[in-house]
Order: sequence, then C-alpha cells, then structure tokens
Amino acid sequence: MAYALPDLDYAYNALEPHIDARTMEIHHSKHHQTYINNVNGILEKLGGDLAGMSVEDLLANIGKVPEDSRGGVNFNGGGTDNHNIFWKTMKPGGGGEPTGAVADAINSAFGDFAGFKDAFTKDTIGVKGSGWCWLLAKGGAVEIKAMPNQTSPRTEGATPILGIDVWEHAYYLNYQNRRPDYIAAWWNVINWDKVNALLAAAK
Ligand code: MN
Repeated sequence: MAYALPDLDYAYNALEPHIDARTMEIHHSKHHQTYINNVNGILEKLGGDLAGMSVEDLLANIGKVPEDSRGGVNFNGGGTDNHNIFWKTMKPGGGGEPTGAVADAINSAFGDFAGFKDAFTKDTIGVKGSGWCWLLAKGGAVEIKAMPNQTSPRTEGATPILGIDVWEHAYYLNYQNRRPDYIAAWWNVINWDKVNALLAAAK
C-alpha cells in the first residue's frame, strides 16, 4: 500500500496572511510529496508486512524495520506523517483557545493556556536547525517536546496531536529568518477541533 499525498481541506491561499500561498504550495506539493515518494521507495524494497501498514503503525512499530532501513523510515515516514498532521491541524479562521478535553489537559499540565502558549513558543523558537515542536498525548496527559529533523514522536511511544514545522522551507519565503514571527502567526490558524479529535483517538 503506497502512501499518497493527501488533499488539503482548504486552498493554498486560505491561511493568508499568516501562511502565504506560495509557501503552502511548495511545502505540500514538493516537500511533503518527496518524503512520501522516499518512504514508498524504501517500503517497496522491504516488502512484507511493513509495506501493508499505515504510516502511523509503521512508525509506532519502528523496531520491526530492519536496522539498516530504520533511519530512512523514521526520516521519510516521519516526514509523511508529520505533514499529514500539520495540514489537518490548521484551518482558515482557526486559532483562539481550545475547548473540551484539550483545554482541560493543557490547564492541568501548564496552569492555563497562556502558560502553555509561552512554553510552546519558547521551545519552538529553540529548535536547533530543522525540526518540529509537538504537543504530545502520552499516558493520559499532554506534554511539549521539540524533536529534530523529521523524527516521529510515534517512534518514542507518544501520539502527536499538534505540531509546528520549523524547517526553513515552512516559512522562509515570507518570514525569512524571522522564525518567531512565523510561530506567532501560526497560533492564528490552529484547528483546535481537530486537536481534540486526535487527543480523543489517542486514548
Ligand atoms: Mn515541512
């Protein structure tokens, strides 16, 4: 079962002015597609049960991948799954504060939404080089974790429910070196209903 590039639920220009159309188009149609092509190539060679797994299951069972292919599957399978989550957890007219179970989990872990937003922003600014910052569901609670490159949180037993891509390809055309401005803009497009759905599915 080869993986396919998912359609977005909105147009490339729908997240403007926060994320520009050109960045979205290249990021989705070129960068995401490349991770998908690469992991499909690895799985085609490996064959067997691995090639029939969902990308989520593949990453959660990374120990079943032969050792010499594990790094490639984590990077390219991670790049496939991470971007799947990224597109789904944004929407035009999003942002604001979460409600429901996500709000409760954030308040338990960080005191209030402002405390969470500060901590998440700080950790995202601090990602060295290319990587992501995640809100993870793990053992019934949520936690923030910055991770390098395309490393999938699923390979460490956590379920990603929200993440921001801070590879330069995610923001450089519009924001150049101003990563903090891109992060500030991203808070305005978060699809909290989807984050709630991912948390519910993680339990
Ligand atoms: Mn990316």
